[in-house]
Amino acid sequence: MVQLSGITPSGHVQLGNHLGALRRWAAEGGPDDLYFVSDLHAMTTAHNPAKLRSLATEQLAVLVAAGIAPERVFVQSDLARELGALTWVLECTCSYGEAARMIQFKEKSKGQAGVRLSLLTYPVLMAADILLQGADEVPVGEDQRQHVELARTLARRFNSTYGEVFVVPEATLPPAGARVKDLAEPTRKMSKSAQDSAGVVFVLDEPDQIRRKIRKARTDGDSVPAYDPENRPGISNLLEILAACVGGEPAELAEKYPSYGVLKDAVADAVIEELRPVREGTRALLDDVAELERVRKAGAERAIDRSSHRVSAALRMVGAA
Ligand code: ATP
Ligand code: MG
Repeated sequence: MVQLSGITPSGHVQLGNHLGALRRWAAEGGPDDLYFVSDLHAMTTAHNPAKLRSLATEQLAVLVAAGIAPERVFVQSDLARELGALTWVLECTCSYGEAARMIQFKEKSKGQAGVRLSLLTYPVLMAADILLQGADEVPVGEDQRQHVELARTLARRFNSTYGEVFVVPEATLPPAGARVKDLAEPTRKMSKSAQDSAGVVFVLDEPDQIRRKIRKARTDGDSVPAYDPENRPGISNLLEILAACVGGEPAELAEKYPSYGVLKDAVADAVIEELRPVREGTRALLDDVAELERVRKAGAERAIDRSSHRVSAALRMVGAA
């Protein structure tokens, strides 16, 4: 069983990524599961090359510092040759109509000038990510389901047209976990690519920054904590974050804190402690350039060794090599 999950370096890793994904990947990942930094996917809209490179390096360090086994981690662009070749083969397996139907493309291209062609074709690159590694399970949220379906369609079509090369993947639902909301806008989810980062706690934020952001978190006019996500999203988000860090149920935790101020301090303490090892581990890795480079190279080599036979077979079968 191979599960594949990725994280896009579209911004600095935030608390929601850690609580909702990285922490779980580190704790529950099976021995053959793979995690990758999808830097090629961060190029479908205007991007800054130097920033992309440094964010990708940072994310690799964060994944390892979060406790994911280094041999299960790689950076997508280190497989650019394999993925480039396979993407082309899969583009020749996919119809224009199938790509143009993707809801994400319609949403992200609407009203935009100069839409990059890659915004249309990126689900095919995603199919290549999945099919290259022979992943049979891809845990994704609702927004990515259609893309995994496309990968499934392309695998089946290729296999029946040219011969069996690809494992047909399945989209699975990740286990329900914490859904962290933006502290300043608690009806919106916390995102690393948010325009305004006032309400976003980054994994690499220093403790005093974290405390400041949590103290400023938007809450309602009440002063006594209660768990009511519908009517009191701000304070409920803080209770959920606290529960994700220290365990327990948000509603029960609410009863322990007499005021918003006391609760916010407790949330800040808990988040600071939760993120401390990740922050310190990431900083240590980013300082040890040689070690990080070694981890990156080893991860790339393993990912290529495991998978390049599929590209060769696919090229051969389509009559190209
Ligand atoms: P972007 O703004 O670029 O979409 P993002 O912060 O939403 O960034 P993704 O790269 O889309 O991050 O997702 C990486 C992983 O983090 C996914 O598994 C996703 O479910 C999880 N994740 C992202 N945001 C949250 C959040 N606020 N709460 C819990 N999990 C989250
Ligand atoms: Mg996202």
